[in-house]
Amino acid sequence: MIDVDGHNFPNLALMRISSFHKQRGDTVEWWWSDFVHYDIVYMSKIFSDTYTADVPEPLNADRVIKGGTGYCIHLGNDGKEHFDKSKNTELPPEIERCFPDYSIYPQFPFAVSMTSRGCPRGCAFCHVAAKEGRCAKKVADVSDFWCGQKEIKVLDPNITACAEKRDLMQQYIDTRAIIDFTQGLDIRLLNQYDIEDINKMRVGTLHFAWDNPKDDLESKFSDFAKGFRRKSNIGMVYCLTNYNSTMEENLYRIYTLRDMGYDPYVMVYDKPNAPKEVRRLQRWCNNKIIFKSCPKFEDYQT
Ligand code: SF4
Repeated sequence: MIDVDGHNFPNLALMRISSFHKQRGDTVEWWWSDFVHYDIVYMSKIFSDTYTADVPEPLNADRVIKGGTGYCIHLGNDGKEHFDKSKNTELPPEIERCFPDYSIYPQFPFAVSMTSRGCPRGCAFCHVAAKEGRCAKKVADVSDFWCGQKEIKVLDPNITACAEKRDLMQQYIDTRAIIDFTQGLDIRLLNQYDIEDINKMRVGTLHFAWDNPKDDLESKFSDFAKGFRRKSNIGMVYCLTNYNSTMEENLYRIYTLRDMGYDPYVMVYDKPNAPKEVRRLQRWCNNKIIFKSCPKFEDYQT
């Protein structure tokens, strides 16, 4: 197997592939040398070429199978990334059903889960709707991923939009594990029942997004801050920049969130080509030592 993105985070597809082949009695290992011959090499790439460079296909294999969102995204003439559905390959059902083989990533003590897929939003900069559809649906139970780890990293793109979220939230509560909604909770869809469920959960840092500055989300963030049991460290909020937002709009979101007790975190679309000022904004906001010691971006000198 080749984890093209590096080994910075467990790759769910590869963990399932590993599990499937081990159950069949096959030997599974990371691709490591040109001097070994493999029956199959699986290459998985989650991130686009903007973030992860591809690696050459190995020649020492009977078959090379490539998959993952990273292989379906290409940079269009408009300078934006596009998802090419024709290149999308799903795992065969017999592999998709396999319990992840966590042993291939011994450096990570947590479980990863993907209990729902799809998102109704279809944000233009995001590939989830194109890949998984514009309806968030439950696709698995927590027990399909979790075997007692103390922490679960939830990879669902928008669990808050899922019709079966009550069931899923209860399953996460019942684990008593620390739950990390890595893809963020959709603040626009959080209702009082969601907040009650989250209050029953052991949660680490919560993640939200305020990507579109045209969305007026101040009252939604305020409602959550009031209903959430924790009064500090309420959550980290991703703020997308360099994508149809002015610097004034960027700063409005950052300041508003900070004043409510959230931790704003600047994401930069197409970072390699982003204006210097936007990258400076990211440095200022995301470095929490700088952010605390210099409350106004206007005063930030580099
Ligand atoms: S809400 Fe999140 S997952 Fe859904 S389309 Fe927008 S960025 Fe993607």
